[in-house]
Amino acid sequence: MRVTAAVLNAYDTPFVLEELELDEPGPGEVLVKVVASGICHTDGLAQHADLPFPVPGVLGHEGAGIVEAVGEGVTLVAPGDAVVLGWPWCGDCDNCRTGQPRYCDQLGPLLVGGGRGDGSTSLSRGGDPVHSHFFGQSSFSTYSIASESSLVKVPAGLDIDKLGPLACGISTGAGAVFNALRPGLGSSIAVYGTGAVGLAAVMAARSTGATRIIGVDLHDARLDIARELGATDVVNARTADPVEAIKDLCGGPADFAIDCTGSVTVVRQVIDSVGMLGTACLIGGAPAGATFEADHLTTLWGKRIVGTLGGESTSKRLISSLLDLHAEGRFPYDRLIVEFPFEQINEALAASYSGDVLKPVLRMPR
Ligand SMILES: [Zn+2]
Ligand SMILES: [Zn+2]
Repeated sequence: MRVTAAVLNAYDTPFVLEELELDEPGPGEVLVKVVASGICHTDGLAQHADLPFPVPGVLGHEGAGIVEAVGEGVTLVAPGDAVVLGWPWCGDCDNCRTGQPRYCDQLGPLLVGGGRGDGSTSLSRGGDPVHSHFFGQSSFSTYSIASESSLVKVPAGLDIDKLGPLACGISTGAGAVFNALRPGLGSSIAVYGTGAVGLAAVMAARSTGATRIIGVDLHDARLDIARELGATDVVNARTADPVEAIKDLCGGPADFAIDCTGSVTVVRQVIDSVGMLGTACLIGGAPAGATFEADHLTTLWGKRIVGTLGGESTSKRLISSLLDLHAEGRFPYDRLIVEFPFEQINEALAASYSGDVLKPVLRMPR
């Protein structure tokens, strides 16, 4: 079928809306009419070759929509179902089998291989392949082919326009707190970078026993939102040394600190913000090949430095739980969303980079 997709024809160039050909859904595959797709920092990394996704290709990995058709053997969803397009996983490796599909052995090829597991692409142009299946979905398109196992069916009646960001950025920040860190009663947590991912972490921390939640950023406007969403304290790293400020606020190092920036300078500050038995957590994506440093002696003192991907757990459990929290008013992630028409994809990404918009969401033509 013919679809309209935002094609990245070469690295470091703008997306161009083009008509492409999309396959029919094969066995185990589902055709989804994309209603809206969030834009995540990782799309920008891939656009600039800092994440190795081949071109020409279609990015987008925070899609939400309606099932249009299903391939042979599909039983979990049916045409008309509202779905969020979650992360793909093989289902067969040790980590998938033990409930950690975010760390699937096949994660690299499934997220950024540029097609299905067998190397084929679902998209083409004039008979030539266009790389697809970015994070298993390539949702910067009016329709997407995804595997059944990556879809999360959501209750009818929700505002589908707002659901896409739950597929990656929002789940990543919240899941890091709920699943990777699990702060106990009375603990302190510092969140460096209060963009969409960091604010999701702040909102999640507010639903734990953590009693001191510190937002760190360079922009006062973002810090104001962090306060509204649950930060007990904020630090502007332009005007104060955040490591010292956190020690002052906590009466010593924090128990947990999270990097949502992907800046190796900030990663060092995050590591230095926690002390003995503290946990420094890396979430933010840095360009491929980036390395960071830590102080050896103080790391030896029982400090943990952990990385976490996609909020851990499974897309189904993460997204349905966050929707429940949202319904109870405890996770107002939709406050971060600004909607753009699909054709303004380049402006939406620029607004995200400039910090004017926390979470841009592209609305597909109706
Ligand atoms: Zn696997
Ligand atoms: Zn993402």
